[in-house]
Amino acid sequence: MDKKVVVIGSINMDLVVHLDEIPGIGETVLGESLGEYAGGKGANQAVALAKAGVNTFFIGKIGDDIYGDDVLLEMKKAGINTGGIQRTKGNTGLAIIQVDRKAQNNIVVIPGANYKIGEEDLEKYRKEISRMDYALFQLEIPLDLVEKGLDLARELEIKTILNPAPAQNLTTEFLKKVDLLIPNEYELGKITSKNIENQDDIESASQLLLDQGVKEILVTLGAQGVYYTNGVERAYYPAFQVEAIDTTGAGDSFIGGLLAGLCKGEFMEKAIERGQATSAITVQSKGAQSAIPVIRQVDEFLQQMIDRHS
Ligand code: ADP
Repeated sequence: MDKKVVVIGSINMDLVVHLDEIPGIGETVLGESLGEYAGGKGANQAVALAKAGVNTFFIGKIGDDIYGDDVLLEMKKAGINTGGIQRTKGNTGLAIIQVDRKAQNNIVVIPGANYKIGEEDLEKYRKEISRMDYALFQLEIPLDLVEKGLDLARELEIKTILNPAPAQNLTTEFLKKVDLLIPNEYELGKITSKNIENQDDIESASQLLLDQGVKEILVTLGAQGVYYTNGVERAYYPAFQVEAIDTTGAGDSFIGGLLAGLCKGEFMEKAIERGQATSAITVQSKGAQSAIPVIRQVDEFLQQMIDRHS
C-alpha cells in the first residue's frame, strides 16, 4: 500500500497585475492585465502530491469570499482530499503581485484565513492525521501552530517534513522535531545565520542543523540541483538541464515529486530524481499549480532521460 500524506499549510489566491512600471507612493498608473492563480506553498505542494497520485489530506482554512471557492475548486480538481479545509469569515489568503515590464515585482501578502488555523483544528482531525505516514509543513501559517503540528505528528509517530519557507529563525527546540528539512540556499543561510556562498558553506550549515537534531536535510540549489545529507551520506545530485521559462513553484513541485517517490517506497536517491524531474517539467511552463505535471508526464520524462543516456 502506498503511503499517505497530510499537508497542514497555506492556501492563497495570487493576484498578478502586469504593468509597465510599478507606481511610486501617491502615483496612479494604468495596468495591462490582472491574472488570478491559485497558490500558497501548502496548496502548491499538495497539488504536486495529488497530481503524482499520492493520497493527500489537507488541513487549512479559506475565507468566505469568491477566491475561497476558486482555490478550493483547483485543489479538488487536482485530486486532494479537501475534507480538512474549513471556511472562516473574512479573506482567503491573498498575494497581490505587481510585475513590471522588466519582470521586477512587488508583493503584498494578506495571510487572511491562513492565520486563523488554530490548535483546535489540528485536534479536530486527529483521527485522520493518525492514519497518515508523513506530515508536511511550510511556514505560511502561524509558527506556533506548525510547532503544535510537529508535536502531534510525533505523538502519532508520523514522519515530519518541513519546507522552512518563507525563511525564519527557528529554535533548536523547534528544529529537533523535524525528520526531513527541505530549505533552499537562502533559507539554509537564514535558519543557521550563516553566509552560504559555496559547497563548504552548504555542508557546514547542514551539519549544524543535523547537530541540532534534524535527521535528514535536502538543500535545493535551483538549476544546480540538490544537496542531501543524513550525517552518514553526503551527496550532490545535479538538476536536469532544461530551458527554464518560469521558476515559480520549482521548490513546491520538487517537494511534491520527492515525497511522492518516498510514498511509493523509492529510496532517497530515486525519490530525489523524481522530485527534480517534476520541477524540471514545472519550470518549462508558466504558472505554479497549472505547470505541475501529473505522474505520467514525470515517468515519461524520466524514461526519456534513460533513453537519451543509453
Ligand atoms: P525554490 O523555488 O524553493 O527556491 P529552487 O529554486 O532551489 O527552489 O528549485 C527547486 C528545484 O527545482 C531544484 O533543486 C531543481 O531540481 C529544480 N530547478 C529549479 N530551477 C531549475 C532550472 N533552471 N533548471 C532545472 N531545474 C530547476
